[in-house]
Amino acid sequence: MAQYDYDLFTIGAGSGGVRASRMSAFFGAKVAVAEERYLGGTCVNAGCIPKKLLVYAAHFSEDFSDAAGYGWTVGERSVNWRKLIANKDREISRLNGVYRGILSDNGVEIIEGHAEIVDPHTVTVDGRRHTAKYILVAVGSWPVVPKIPGAEHAITSNEAFHLDSLPKKVIIVGGGYIGAEFAGILYGLGSHTTQLYRGELFLRGFDDDIRRTLAEEMRKRGIELRFNRDIERIDKAGAILKATLNDGETIDANQILYATGRAPLTRNLGLERAGVQLKDHGAVAVDEYCKSSVDNIYAIGDCTDRLMLTPVAIAEGMAVANTLFNNKPTKPGYLNVPTAVFSTPNCGTVGLTHTLTGRDERTMMKLVVDAATDRVLGCHMVGPDAGEIIQGLAVALNCGATKAQFDATIGIHPTAAEEFVTMRAKVA
Ligand code: FAD
Repeated sequence: MAQYDYDLFTIGAGSGGVRASRMSAFFGAKVAVAEERYLGGTCVNAGCIPKKLLVYAAHFSEDFSDAAGYGWTVGERSVNWRKLIANKDREISRLNGVYRGILSDNGVEIIEGHAEIVDPHTVTVDGRRHTAKYILVAVGSWPVVPKIPGAEHAITSNEAFHLDSLPKKVIIVGGGYIGAEFAGILYGLGSHTTQLYRGELFLRGFDDDIRRTLAEEMRKRGIELRFNRDIERIDKAGAILKATLNDGETIDANQILYATGRAPLTRNLGLERAGVQLKDHGAVAVDEYCKSSVDNIYAIGDCTDRLMLTPVAIAEGMAVANTLFNNKPTKPGYLNVPTAVFSTPNCGTVGLTHTLTGRDERTMMKLVVDAATDRVLGCHMVGPDAGEIIQGLAVALNCGATKAQFDATIGIHPTAAEEFVTMRAKVA
């Protein structure tokens, strides 16, 4: 009789947890994954995917104006926010189903509920005990809102995806990429938008030229950017929120959205009880193989607070599956991780993977690979931005890139172009 119920018990069916679970099962392991909220995690439900759909919805306001320059007569236009949100939700439900299928088709058992670690080989989900040789912590992160008076009146990106109506006036607090992206989304859809950041210039950590150029372009479009500003208190008067800034100024708004960072979701998980060491802000401390301070407990993705990006969580999940169940000890690579800000305008590459128009448009992508040398000989694509995408790949081909090098490259998510570095199925 087996010593444990499972070879691997994953906590969290988000980007990293799903990849690690399905690949471990593919390599022959008996795997269960516990999920307490939504299949697909943040990326699918409250991150990359819904965000990109709203970015796409918002960009039409510029297209309407541009169209006039090309001779089009553009009439009265308005956004039906409820319809947009309903269509977005429908697409997300479809993706939840796709994730359920990916897991069950690979033989991964899905256990719904809140998981807690009891000891290094035991997890409980809503009171039921399960044992496993390895435990993988892939619990993600959660938005952090500073504790200021009136903070309870503010929302985060989680709620922004489900608002009943588009706010007439919105204040966005925070200078990271999520704040900049929501500023573009809400402004593009018609909200009067102010973005506040307490530092000199937003997008800390990005190239200075990008930061300055983006700020200039956003201001040109009509988004109010106020740097070196923060909110000290929020007061609610009926439907109006009054934000008092640190320079004494007050600004009225219908919604105040905090995008001031995310913290690992590691509370109430029993990690300390099992002897797992945590870093500041509750992140799980791991080595280069994503192993925690306890030999058989691994952690990946946002909860380790390294690079909070979906393709990174996926790469880490893949590495853990290879290390534990494919005889290939693998350290995820963090060199040259590309990223994009889907602001208005975008920084980085734009590509679309989903549409809400009802149009039956599909994208075709193909790599021709020399079976003997693994060299990529041809890249072909039919779909949006194909010319832009293939131009970059031409450079890789000229440099003699192999399929293994394509596979080792981390994608920018969610884009169409990332498919070129995640293709697995060989056709002939
Ligand atoms: P998650 O995907 O968050 O999955 C963790 C899962 O664990 C969740 O489903 C949660 O419910 C579950 N869970 C937690 N605790 C428990 C428990 N105790 N028991 C059971 N289940 C539990 N990244 C990009 O690369 N590109 C983007 O464009 C992008 N845009 C973003 C936009 C927004 C608004 C946000 C918030 C994030 C964005 N990200 C983007 C970041 C990306 O979503 C995350 O980096 C990624 O989802 C992290 O994956 P993960 O597997 O670590 O965690």
